[in-house]
Amino acid sequence: MTTSRKACVIGWPIGHSRSPLIQNYWLKKYGIDGEYTKREVAPDALADFVGSLRANGFAGINVTIPHKQAVLKLSKPDERAEAVGAANTLWYEGDTLCSTNTDVEGFLNNLDAGVPGWSRNLENVVVLGAGGAARAVVHALIGRKAAHIHVVNRTRKSADDLAARFGKAVTADNWDALSTLLARASLLVNASSAGMKKQGALDVDLNSANPSLTIAELVYDPRDTALLKAARARGLRAVDGVGMLMHQAVGGFERWFGRRPEVTSELRALVEADLAAA
Ligand code: NAP
Repeated sequence: MTTSRKACVIGWPIGHSRSPLIQNYWLKKYGIDGEYTKREVAPDALADFVGSLRANGFAGINVTIPHKQAVLKLSKPDERAEAVGAANTLWYEGDTLCSTNTDVEGFLNNLDAGVPGWSRNLENVVVLGAGGAARAVVHALIGRKAAHIHVVNRTRKSADDLAARFGKAVTADNWDALSTLLARASLLVNASSAGMKKQGALDVDLNSANPSLTIAELVYDPRDTALLKAARARGLRAVDGVGMLMHQAVGGFERWFGRRPEVTSELRALVEADLAAA
């Protein structure tokens, strides 16, 4: 009888995913008999695919765009996935298919590792974007007791909806208020897709920024975004999206393969090389 364990990432499309690179690096490093693949699953095939995971030998899956909301109804979400309104990691506990959102811990652990003490003073935080990643970030920041979270988004209505979802610590602000907000913020998070390859540039001027501002970039392709370059030019502390990508992968590996993996500089070099070659 084989003891090999299987997991995969599903999305539609799925070609861009770096999850197999990360998960298979850990499988090899720890000598675990398992495999991690990627599967393209169209929205109309999602329920069948998720419903037959165990029958097809899967210990669990990662989920990416556009399925992160839809899998909530196909699994038992934990408090975190419920609060964010999206799940990216599914696994079995007995016969129950559970789900969680590891973007929350990926975001926090990346900052904890890169900028120790970053959450000591979170009086004012600015979050750019109001999609799924922004919801995970806002949930994470509320958990770290951020007093005021200003959500700034290209489409104001989505920022208003996000603020209404999370309560009084969160307000929606207009893009033209950014300079004023950055003058007193201790953290700026880019949780929008702006700055990504093939997307528009991110229009943020750091001239007015508080000198103790920390920047958390979620975009990882390219790794070195214009925002990170601007932060470096001003001597501001920053963490990149590659760091979060690696940290958010930890929880799935641990649940499916039974060992908590380490985020190492060797893994970072592998991911960066893959991004550079794409
Ligand atoms: P999403 O749900 O599609 O939301 C995208 C957000 O970006 C929306 O708020 C959208 O504004 C905004 N946006 C898109 N293009 C823009 C532009 N040109 N200028 C300004 N704003 C723009 O996507 P998501 O899942 O939240 O992901 C957002 C980003 O985070 C992506 O780059 C993703 O790769 C990254 N991410 C990284 C990690 C990691 O581990 N590093 C994890 C999760 C996500 P509108 O409302 O106006 O459309």
